[in-house]
Amino acid sequence: MIAQVIVDVVHTNVDRPFSYLIPEGLEPRVGSRVEVPLGKRRVDGIVTAILPETDLPDDLPLHKLRPIHDVLDDYPALLPLLLKLARQLAEENHCPLSETLRLMLPAAMRTGRIQRKLETVAQLVSGVDAQARADEMRRAPKRAMLLRLLADGQPHALSQLSELVANPRDGLRALEDLGLIEISQQEVFRSPYQPEDDQRSIAPELTSDQQEALGSMIPAMERGEGAFLLHGVTGSGKTEVYLAMVSRALEMGKGAIILVPEIALTPQMVRWFHSRFGPATAVLHSRLTDGQRYDEWRRIRLGQARVVVGARSAIFAPVEKLGLIVIDEEHEQTYLSDKHPRYDARRVAALRCENEGAALVLSSATPSILSFAKARRGDYTLVEMPRRVGNRPLPEVTVVDMRKELEAGNRSIFSALLIQKLKACLDSGHQAMLFLNRRGYNTFVSCRSCGYVVKCPQCDLSMTLHRTHEDDPGQLRCHMCGAVQAPPQTCPECGSKYIRYFGSGTQRVEEEMHKLFPGVKTVRMDIDTTRGRDAHARLLETFRKGESQVLIGTQMIAKGLDFPKVTLVGVIAADMTLNLPDYRSVERTFQLVTQVAGRAGRAQEPGEVIVQSYKPDHPCIEAAAKQDYRAFFEMEFSRRRTGLYPPFTQLARLLVESPAEDSCKALAESLHAQLQAWLNENPAQQKKTLMVRMDEAPVKKIRGQYRYHVLLKLFSHPDAEPVLQKLAELAKTENERCQVYCEVNPATMM
Ligand code: ADP
Ligand code: ZN
Ligand code: ZN
Repeated sequence: MIAQVIVDVVHTNVDRPFSYLIPEGLEPRVGSRVEVPLGKRRVDGIVTAILPETDLPDDLPLHKLRPIHDVLDDYPALLPLLLKLARQLAEENHCPLSETLRLMLPAAMRTGRIQRKLETVAQLVSGVDAQARADEMRRAPKRAMLLRLLADGQPHALSQLSELVANPRDGLRALEDLGLIEISQQEVFRSPYQPEDDQRSIAPELTSDQQEALGSMIPAMERGEGAFLLHGVTGSGKTEVYLAMVSRALEMGKGAIILVPEIALTPQMVRWFHSRFGPATAVLHSRLTDGQRYDEWRRIRLGQARVVVGARSAIFAPVEKLGLIVIDEEHEQTYLSDKHPRYDARRVAALRCENEGAALVLSSATPSILSFAKARRGDYTLVEMPRRVGNRPLPEVTVVDMRKELEAGNRSIFSALLIQKLKACLDSGHQAMLFLNRRGYNTFVSCRSCGYVVKCPQCDLSMTLHRTHEDDPGQLRCHMCGAVQAPPQTCPECGSKYIRYFGSGTQRVEEEMHKLFPGVKTVRMDIDTTRGRDAHARLLETFRKGESQVLIGTQMIAKGLDFPKVTLVGVIAADMTLNLPDYRSVERTFQLVTQVAGRAGRAQEPGEVIVQSYKPDHPCIEAAAKQDYRAFFEMEFSRRRTGLYPPFTQLARLLVESPAEDSCKALAESLHAQLQAWLNENPAQQKKTLMVRMDEAPVKKIRGQYRYHVLLKLFSHPDAEPVLQKLAELAKTENERCQVYCEVNPATMM
């Protein structure tokens, strides 16, 4: 027999299966990882097909084939349906199959850095009367003790026995020689769970909204179909809906994958699932050690764990007989991969559900414009949960006009109202959250008197300040069209000199907080304080236990958290994201304000939210304050239509990266010229293309790589595919010094 193998080398040269002989004694199957010769090297690969020798093409005679070297695992690492998925993704993303195959396996497994962990275990030979034999061993008390410990017939790890009996090895060996026990090597799984995770919980009585939602989703899941957009307000109890669906899936003998944003993957979330489904739950996220991730992955592959709770890459978890995929907080950016290949976990989920006959549930209090538009078009069934659990009211939101604060002489980053509410909240023994969106920190220029933001005259997107050192006055640049101008000294709108680089970091909020409320304990959560493996969980735990009263954080505190004692939420500067140089900035702002507001008043006490804004009358702030998703959607959808933004158009680019700037730029220029020439020759394609431009990428250098891109805006029709094909073809351009990537609707235009 012949095995066709995709080698684990990402290069267009080897982006096709190679044939190898299967030698006597090896039994690779489709999906097996194997070691094969490639030229003078030995590389790993995945078997994609097994063929009889008669199927070899004529120009490839049998005697020219080399044999497979080794089969790397005792089971195929890749399920056939995941192999199919890898093929589909390679095609859609215009990238080599070896690149999408890599997504399917834990990185540490692929590189051989991690191995199974084996442990010595001792177990009573069945039929042995341990008690009676132990009684006979009066002269050997240690052996007697060991025998009694093993009397239950269960396997016991040597490491555990040594905690009870000092140096048990010799004693065990003696018992083995007597034929009373067996000593063997067994695999142990490195576990990421805490002892608290083992508490069991049962489902509460469901609310009528929850029952209705399940009433429409479960029958579809039972038929092995259905794609739903679950739009439930914050606190409507969406998690309980997932839990009920997972229970049903398990009853049907099916598995489930629940994707949550990485930063919402708190111990709380893990506990929720673990307490309901016990060891049938596996978790996959970036804070696991390599060993834990590998073992959780293997528990899934071996069928021991049937419910996977995980971050983005868990969408590739090897769950067999998949019945359900839930994507919690589906609007989150984290579902778009920021590494190559840049897949969208929502798209992958849809493909998997289709391939495997599973139901798909996209869920959010603030669905993405794209998903809601799809639901309106009928691609997804819309399911709504408009009320909070226990009919708790949604928190009351007050928008504070920060321009007036400055007029009134208040230069603090806290408005008078927020200070007053904070005082009342802390006096009554409740907790508060202060939220600051630091994305866009210090990058745009805005007037503190009138709220004016410097924008590109051609694009209506805020310009970004580029500085090389601290005293550099810098340059304003438009990331859309590349326009450049000097930052103004006074406001072009109102003449105020309070125009400056906007920014107030979490640290500054914390300092001001301490000045205003000496003695109040605060927890600060941002990228600086959450670096360590458990830092994130630890900080949240101090807040949960009430050891501090105020949680100050960036967007990472906006989602998923459920703290019953929080009654006040303050949003320091709601419009910060509104000024990001990205067409999605309005959508992000609405989502962030609504989500963060949803953290307040989740238990008995009603919640209150203060939103500070320099643009209190921006329709997006107004809609967020009313928590009126529909109003926001209609407004934003028509803005996208007029502005020709996605979903009405699509953005695509060829990104060139190189350690040498001149080569990078030269190649980007050449690709641009080739594309232009091709478009000129193909007027039909030209017409579908709204814009083509070569430019520095918004982030010009990352990890020593210079970056230039050729950016395209296309009409969003399937017939724009030839243009994308052309891009993919150009991306295969060989260049010694540069890498070229083709990206369609990338997560970020960095
Ligand atoms: P969402 O994700 O929709 O914002 P959660 O799933 O976090 O809401 O649920 C909000 C709170 O309501 C949680 O504390 C949860 O335990 C509780 N809850 C959910 N469903 C019920 C129910 N049927 N009865 C009582 N409490 C519930
Ligand atoms: Zn002004
Ligand atoms: Zn511009």
